[in-house]
Amino acid sequence: MHTNRISFSTALFVSMLISCSKILPVNEKAAIDFHTFHNRKMGASASEFLNDGVYKSLVVEIQYVAGFKPQQGTVDYLKNFLETYLRKPRGINILLKEIPSIEQNALNKDHVLTIENVYRTRYIQHDQISMYILFTDGVHSGNKILGMAYGNTSAVVYGEAIRKYSNKGGRLTHQVLETAVLLHEIGHLLGLVNKGTPLRSEHVDFASNDHCSNKSCLMYRSVEVKKLSSILRQGNMPVLDSLCIEDLIANGGKNTPDYELYVKPF
Ligand SMILES: [Zn+2]
Ligand SMILES: [Zn+2]
Repeated sequence: MHTNRISFSTALFVSMLISCSKILPVNEKAAIDFHTFHNRKMGASASEFLNDGVYKSLVVEIQYVAGFKPQQGTVDYLKNFLETYLRKPRGINILLKEIPSIEQNALNKDHVLTIENVYRTRYIQHDQISMYILFTDGVHSGNKILGMAYGNTSAVVYGEAIRKYSNKGGRLTHQVLETAVLLHEIGHLLGLVNKGTPLRSEHVDFASNDHCSNKSCLMYRSVEVKKLSSILRQGNMPVLDSLCIEDLIANGGKNTPDYELYVKPF
């Protein structure tokens, strides 16, 4: 009886080992690839977003805390921006979903990453790549920046900070500021400036080297900090300048008719 029990247990153990050895490597491989893909540094997915060599569609998962849902005009502007620069022939979809309020007000990269790990639902799948954007009800822990691209497919917009700084000066609306910060962070996910998308010309800001030196450009450093750029303070929405656009096109982005004159075929 004792022998039988042992041999049964042994058999069960051996059988589990065999099934594990058959199944685990596949699951493990998928898990590692998945984790590795979405846990690279800012700009690492630039060409994957810009061209359609591997990923032919994009889903943007926007999650927000109650009271900080991006305005419809912001979402429309985002869709237009992505469709202007990204080659995604099978479409770009934007999903919006509310998540529970975050108890902590000051959020650093680790806090934001923890929230993403709990709530994010969309990852790479077949030929679809995904982007995760979080609109929080908090501020950055350093209380200086309004948004941050903190991974190769992830960015955060600090809603409380946007609310506070958009009221300054009378002209700058909440929507202009949230749109500018959102698109600036997406510019970083697209590898600007010189962080994943190589330079075609010298336009790096020496004072802040992942930003553009053009004070009118969306990728100028003062678009995402509380010391806002003068364009924003006047209530104008900054756009990408031709030098940033040329970089995107050279890295596989869509060549819009306006820029055919300036960029050689590649
Ligand atoms: Zn920036
Ligand atoms: Zn620029």
